[in-house]
Amino acid sequence: MTGKYTEKDIGKIVEVHGENGSSFDERIVLTFCKICGARFIGTIREAGGFIGGHEMFHTWEFQLEMETEMEV
Ligand SMILES: [Zn+2]
Repeated sequence: MTGKYTEKDIGKIVEVHGENGSSFDERIVLTFCKICGARFIGTIREAGGFIGGHEMFHTWEFQLEMETEMEV
């Protein structure tokens, strides 16, 4: 599934048949992480996972940093 779409695919409407079900009329979008700048091209559904995953990680990273600073 990863690396399936390229910049040429942005804006295309696709059908996705995955293990957990099928999605229809999914749009291929380009999204990026506002914190680290990582970019992702894929369906909106996958883009949501990408953004959520980054958000979750950066929040964790930030909290860890805060905790470390408090200990010093
Ligand atoms: Zn990020």
